[in-house]
Amino acid sequence: MGQLPIVFARRYDLDLDHNHRFPAAKFRRIGELLVEEGICNEPDFHRPGPAPLSWIAAAHDRTYVDQVATASVPDKIARDIGYRMTEAVALRSRTASGGTVMTARLALEHGVACNAAGGSHHARRTQGAGFCVFNDVAVTIKVLQAEGLIERVLIVDLDVHQGDGTADIFADDPAVFTFSMHGERNYPTQKIPGDLDIGLPDGTGDDAYLTALKDVLPRLIHRHRPDLVFYNAGVDPHRDDRLGLLALSDDGLDIRNRYVIETVRNAGVPIATVLGGGYSDNIEALSRRHLGIFRAARDFVS
Ligand SMILES: [Zn+2]
Repeated sequence: MGQLPIVFARRYDLDLDHNHRFPAAKFRRIGELLVEEGICNEPDFHRPGPAPLSWIAAAHDRTYVDQVATASVPDKIARDIGYRMTEAVALRSRTASGGTVMTARLALEHGVACNAAGGSHHARRTQGAGFCVFNDVAVTIKVLQAEGLIERVLIVDLDVHQGDGTADIFADDPAVFTFSMHGERNYPTQKIPGDLDIGLPDGTGDDAYLTALKDVLPRLIHRHRPDLVFYNAGVDPHRDDRLGLLALSDDGLDIRNRYVIETVRNAGVPIATVLGGGYSDNIEALSRRHLGIFRAARDFVS
């Protein structure tokens, strides 16, 4: 069994002020923990560069892409995103997208690969929103489809927030199946329907959550026959998450991650994972929660 390919860049770090609602410090700590916990040796990280703007523009309107690149995003859109839109944020967002493209290529080669960022699923075609600037998974699908590497894709989005941006971008593409299971009362209030949306009630715990997942995932893989699966492994369904309204335990998240990867790999389909959301003032606990996806994935490298 080979080593799990992990994609990580120093630039994933996002230099926001410490009181910002978005826990940007987690990215640096996750990189450190992957090394400290023996999941990856530092020299073995796959290090992406910023995605070219032409890649980003395959999923987003050119006007918006240029506004981000030149730090001239209209105030209204910057407020929807939730950051001050600087050139550093633009470079960071392009790097996260470059990372997901790299992760998908590695997944096609090794069966599974993980990005230590990505999952910006609220970014829709015309603009970013909800801490998401560019939709890295959508960018990756467009780039790999254009190269002829993949055609049919299944997105398994288990972040606690609905994947409205991804649903928007692929609304007219029958080759891309968008599945989101999320807290029904969580952001966004106005959801853009995907191909399958399961909105769970507040306080849903491990058993009901895992039952709902196991009820649909094998069927989706069997029916859609994807060339590649993208898994948004957001940890914000956890009971201690500051924004999520579900009530999963540490074990629940572990079982979920393992189940998704195992089910996809047993069907002979490669899987690329992206980090997704997770919110806490306790950066250490939050970063450790995110390690679960890497631990689960490393048992399934072919
Ligand atoms: Zn989320």
